[in-house]
Amino acid sequence: MTTQSPPADARDDGPLESVSFHGLKAGPKLIVLGAVHGNEGCGPAAINRVITECRSGALSVLRGEVTFVPVANPKARRQNTREGDRNLNRDMRERPQPSDNEDRIGNRLCALLREHDVLLDVHSFKGEGEPFVFFGPQDNTGPLEAFRHAQAEAAFAACLGTSILIHGWLEIYVRLIAARERLNLPRLAVTQGFGTTEYMRFAGGYGVTLECGQHDDPASIDVGYAAIRNALAHLGLIDAPRSSVPRPKVIHMSGLVICEAHGDRVEGDWKTGEVITAGQPIARRADGEVLLASRDGFAIFPNRTPKPGEAVIYLGEASSRPV
Ligand SMILES: [Zn+2]
Repeated sequence: MTTQSPPADARDDGPLESVSFHGLKAGPKLIVLGAVHGNEGCGPAAINRVITECRSGALSVLRGEVTFVPVANPKARRQNTREGDRNLNRDMRERPQPSDNEDRIGNRLCALLREHDVLLDVHSFKGEGEPFVFFGPQDNTGPLEAFRHAQAEAAFAACLGTSILIHGWLEIYVRLIAARERLNLPRLAVTQGFGTTEYMRFAGGYGVTLECGQHDDPASIDVGYAAIRNALAHLGLIDAPRSSVPRPKVIHMSGLVICEAHGDRVEGDWKTGEVITAGQPIARRADGEVLLASRDGFAIFPNRTPKPGEAVIYLGEASSRPV
């Protein structure tokens, strides 16, 4: 009898590890994800720190339940790359016939998300900048992202401890699609904009994305760890004194500069959340034309290496949403 090693793609797959703590009293069900992007190590590190504390009794889950998935994308984590075969945080849905690593993970992850009420998805970023939280739309019954937990979700976003909260992702994604069409680039489906939090809202819960800071900054782990503890306390899963969280700045994503040609770039050293004043240069076209901000606002996700059809930079404005 010969033993054959499995095909490479099967070796690269999972399994997904989840660790759950069930309080003995009733309460909400929280799920915490790390390493949806494999090169973002602060999520696994922060989550594992909390798991250790739950096991040792330093933290005691009294109500509801929490499920930790320290590494949501094992293949990408092993490779220390953002993606395994593609971006797990795009086009997130269940597929009867999965065709790549992220399809297969998506099937498991979607099933897990459905079993919970609230999602905290822990990420980090490449450039410099302050930690921030992404949250979702206002309550609505519209076709893009119907929702009915806006108030609870915004309060959850605000409890985590970052000084910046951002909303408006799917609306701006629709505008990116339209801008790409004007450039005759391949059409993107709106579903491409759906990641873990969008799926969670679709499934009837709510969820936010926490961006803890730079990928390899040890401080990012502390941000993630503090946020998970704040989340557990906010939802009443643990008893803990309320930590004093600063009143965050809330930013609505309201515009973007699309990369029209190779060579279009960010003009200046913008960081996410940084204040932009009307008239300041924000981008430069490959032909040298400088684009100026048309109004006061904030820089979001400056992209140092944009490809045609991607955003060079997103723009935000002060949000009127109460948190
Ligand atoms: Zn990420």
